[in-house]
Amino acid sequence: MPVGTAGSVKAVPQDIVESLGAQIILGNTYHLYLRPGHEAIRRMGGLHRFISWPGAMLTDSGGFQVYSLTRLRKVSDEGVQFRSHLDGSSHVFTPEHSMDVQIALGADIAMAFDECTEYPADRDRARESLRLTMAWAQRSLAHFRAHKNEVVWLDELNGRTQRLFGIVQGGVYADLRRESAQRLVEMDFDGYAIGGLSVGEPRHLTLEMIAEVLPQLPADKPRYVMGVGYPDEIEQYARLGVDMMDCVLPTRAARHGLLFTSEGRMNIKNRKYAEDQAPPDPACDCMVCRRYSRAYLRHLIQCGEPLAGTLNSIHNLAYYLEIMRRVRESLETAQ
Ligand SMILES: [Zn+2]
Repeated sequence: MPVGTAGSVKAVPQDIVESLGAQIILGNTYHLYLRPGHEAIRRMGGLHRFISWPGAMLTDSGGFQVYSLTRLRKVSDEGVQFRSHLDGSSHVFTPEHSMDVQIALGADIAMAFDECTEYPADRDRARESLRLTMAWAQRSLAHFRAHKNEVVWLDELNGRTQRLFGIVQGGVYADLRRESAQRLVEMDFDGYAIGGLSVGEPRHLTLEMIAEVLPQLPADKPRYVMGVGYPDEIEQYARLGVDMMDCVLPTRAARHGLLFTSEGRMNIKNRKYAEDQAPPDPACDCMVCRRYSRAYLRHLIQCGEPLAGTLNSIHNLAYYLEIMRRVRESLETAQ
């Protein structure tokens, strides 16, 4: 899932994201809640209509962004009090409020409100954080079930409404992770995410936790690993059985001039590309690689041209989506 933080996959228009074959994009509840506000988006027909995105959408719970505001937040059993990074104004997110905001935004998939356990966290801290996440999962689910039919695009005739995924936490402790997964499965969510990874832990632990949790989750429901990863990681996780992933990496790296290619990572700002007429990735068939040279992309970023971010992002997204397409195909033929 390309990440569309504030209702936009940064620097790339929706029609291009669509033409790259993205079937679903992610929107960040925290950002959309602050601007333009979830009620405004509800009044405008929901997020799909507001941003003109015909595909599927997922919103996160706001928990992760609030977690990133370490110095601006206060966590209690009730929820999280935080200050806006924009104007310092004070807000409270509870599981119930996160559900209300996500129902107003109206993405196809909403996420339970969780606490992203930081790394490193000792066992006691991870257990306490998990206790909170499990209590919040239950409250999220109860509130969501009572209100999901308030989504603005509800299609009762065809039984289409929003879906809610639970989020597995537990730090880097395998038994806590397993317990978290089992308890969420008992609650019976529409899908399951593994959260709290890629927050600074070594990569072998990320893999270990994913491998530990996956068998605990029903294979007939979507299994989503949040916030990963590099191209080789997403391929590895998909082959383990992960169905969904999201990451800002392809677009964020692109804006800094880092391209992911079949020949490895390429820093397009490097002087050696100054007169390099080759396409960014000769093996890539994307609209950027078919038309522009490394020298031109380098020139754009050297001059601070906004087009640099756009073209680099288009290539990186195409590269990521192509990896997933290849994995899907190879899994289909293997069956
Ligand atoms: Zn390309």
